Amino acid sequence: MKLPKLLLVVPCYNEQEMLPHTHQVLSAYLARLVAQLQVNDASKICFVNDGSRDRTWQLIEDICQKDDKVIGLKLSRNFGHQSAILAGLMHHIDAYDCFVTLDADLQDDTEAIEKMVEQHRAGAMVVYGVRDDRSSDTWFKRQTAESFYKLMNWMGVPVVFNHADFRLVDKRILQEFSSFRETNLFLRGVIPLVGFRSEKVFYKRLERQAGESKYPLGKMVLFAWNGITSFSTFPMRLVLYFGAFNFMISLSILAYIFVSYLFGKTVPGWTSTVVPMTFFSGSNMMAIGLIGEYIGKIYEEVKARPRYIIEEVLEQMTNNK
Ligand code: UDP
Ligand code: MG
Repeated sequence: MKLPKLLLVVPCYNEQEMLPHTHQVLSAYLARLVAQLQVNDASKICFVNDGSRDRTWQLIEDICQKDDKVIGLKLSRNFGHQSAILAGLMHHIDAYDCFVTLDADLQDDTEAIEKMVEQHRAGAMVVYGVRDDRSSDTWFKRQTAESFYKLMNWMGVPVVFNHADFRLVDKRILQEFSSFRETNLFLRGVIPLVGFRSEKVFYKRLERQAGESKYPLGKMVLFAWNGITSFSTFPMRLVLYFGAFNFMISLSILAYIFVSYLFGKTVPGWTSTVVPMTFFSGSNMMAIGLIGEYIGKIYEEVKARPRYIIEEVLEQMTNNK
């Protein structure tokens, strides 16, 4: 039986503290998979440098010199986590049979890769890594992350609960995926849209061993907001409901004024003028802002700018294929 050729894609942004260790762990792991005849011995690791400002790229260069199983991919600037993953995948679309994406901090348990490869061999085209234990995350991170998945599902975005970007995809998925041309990329939502047979593999999320999270709260909120507005028009509908609700309120205020007039109690009140005015102008502004948000998205999509730009590729040409 032909063994699948696997590529591990690792996005790296300011990961100089982690990288040497990550390389060590991953190459030992890959060597084990090869020795156990689970994957082809031409399988490799690709480190994507996402415009790091520290010594990450120099480290990747060193590693590539010494290790012919490592490919270095340098993006021309910081494009963000999602685009870095995409660059690593799409650049190698024809050269490998399956791809596993994982974070450079090794918070995603590497041991799960073996299970993913097994599922792939059994016919799954996508294997999602799902965290069933987040006890290593802080309470705050856990709460915000889990409410994110719930909110997304509630709004009709097809995300897999507690699955981040630790997944195996078959070459075929990427080929189909290449016709998804959106700039505002939210992989967790798009991959399920491609379809085909998928499986889940459960693992325990580990603690970050060095360096700090590149996803501070601000970035996390932005990511969630992007995910929602790229996938769901639910917020717009919410505003519509809200507007309708406001309209009903204003009608009842009108009725109240009319009744007061009939009873001759027409004391021109300041509150009854100002309160509805501010209330309605506020909700109007909100609606306009939200529509603006979606128009902004459309604007970005029609420009169709590249999602990433590769500046340099490092790979030793020995032992290829
Ligand atoms: N990352 C990236 N570009 C960015 C931010 C992060 O490539 O702009 C990478 C980072 O190096 C890591 C992965 O994305 O490999 C996940 O980031 P991090 O571990 O900081 O996020 P967290 O696990 O805290 O959500
Ligand atoms: Mg992390």
